[in-house]
Amino acid sequence: LEEQVRSLQASTPRKYPKVKYLNYKNRKRILITGGAGFVGSHLVDDLMIQGHEVIVVDNFFTGRKRNVEHWLGHENFELIHHDIVNPLFIEIDEIYHLASPASPPHYMYNPVKTIKTNTMGTINVLGLAKRVMAKVLIASTSEVYGDPTVHPQPETYWGHVNPIGPRACYDEGKRVSETLSYAYAKQEKVQVRVARIFNTYGPRMHMNDGRVVSNFILQALRNETITVYGNGKQTRSFQYVSDLVDGLIALMASNYTQPVNLGNPVEQTIGEFANIIKHLVGGQSEVKQIKAMEDDPQRRKPDITRAKKRLNWEPKVPLESGLLQTISYFRNELARSDRFQES
Ligand code: NAD
Ligand code: UDP
Ligand code: UDP
Repeated sequence: LEEQVRSLQASTPRKYPKVKYLNYKNRKRILITGGAGFVGSHLVDDLMIQGHEVIVVDNFFTGRKRNVEHWLGHENFELIHHDIVNPLFIEIDEIYHLASPASPPHYMYNPVKTIKTNTMGTINVLGLAKRVMAKVLIASTSEVYGDPTVHPQPETYWGHVNPIGPRACYDEGKRVSETLSYAYAKQEKVQVRVARIFNTYGPRMHMNDGRVVSNFILQALRNETITVYGNGKQTRSFQYVSDLVDGLIALMASNYTQPVNLGNPVEQTIGEFANIIKHLVGGQSEVKQIKAMEDDPQRRKPDITRAKKRLNWEPKVPLESGLLQTISYFRNELARSDRFQES
């Protein structure tokens, strides 16, 4: 029987999403570090569909093979299990450097590793870019602004970060990552692009990463209490993942070298956000305030004047439709894990 199954598998061609044909002059070899993660896997999809060759490097700390499994075996796709803290020697034209845990519980889980990934990992990526003369885009974050004293945050704001607080491993790691990028640009003529990404959500985000979008949706779907940390007056601005991916690709293609904010400027208090999700999911959850988080930034909203002017980019997906797609993803994931437990 095993023999029969194997021969059946071998004779059934795999179905892949349709990719465009690009001739060799326009087709690039693109490395995505952290490409098995939430944002990275959506970037993989867009670049594959455009017809490029995509190489994902990931250590699967927070990423999953399942996020990219629909490309496994495709001739334009390669998945390498590798930790970017160690050197990497491959030949590529462009690098999107996304490898780093991104949610507070993930990056606080092993702060030393988070710092190594964002310093030694970024040095390896920049060393690679230097050797092969590749253009490199660094995924930075709005956290470089810390708990901001300027609102909304333009790229010219230097930030307000506690260097020894619980978020420092990530915030300062990303700040060094930016510093390294401009040092390599100046000294070694590496072409760098720096995206300062604001809170992003969408399908394939981690169910249990402790972030607000996943927590609130899961709590609402399970009819559990929706937990607002603190008084709920703190604000965030949420961008849908397809808008971010468009922005990353536009930034890579542009000749603009200074940091660019990529985020949705529609600002929400976390208290309001809890009610929006409760309403969209339906159900019986109550919204409750619990203990505040240490060093929680109180206001966050991107000033995207620069991205509009330099990249002709702005977010398109309204919060409600992005959340509905995300809720539907979480609903399916919950059903899937229930089935898994039953069997
Ligand atoms: P994610 O955790 O889903 O993806 C990160 C990926 O990097 C994972 O696949 C993980 O396994 C991989 N990784 C981590 N350490 C690694 C290492 N040492 N070597 C190789 N791979 C490693 O997170 P995400 O939300 O997709 O974030 C992607 C990037 O965008 C991160 O750099 C993050 O800092 C940045 N960012 C994300 C957001 C957001 O809201 N999602 C906001 C600001 C910045
Ligand atoms: N590096 C890498 N892949 C390459 C080239 C370099 O991983 O293709 C690493 C290299 O091991 C080094 C880092 O990138 O640790 C920085 O490289 P750079 O050339 O700037 O520094 P050097 O090798 O001179 O210390
Ligand atoms: N938050 C909350 N309840 C939760 C998770 C998060 O009230 O269950 C709040 C958190 O205190 C912060 C905001 O939601 O003010 C966004 O938190 P998240 O961890 O998603 O991202 P951050 O922007 O802080 O990195």
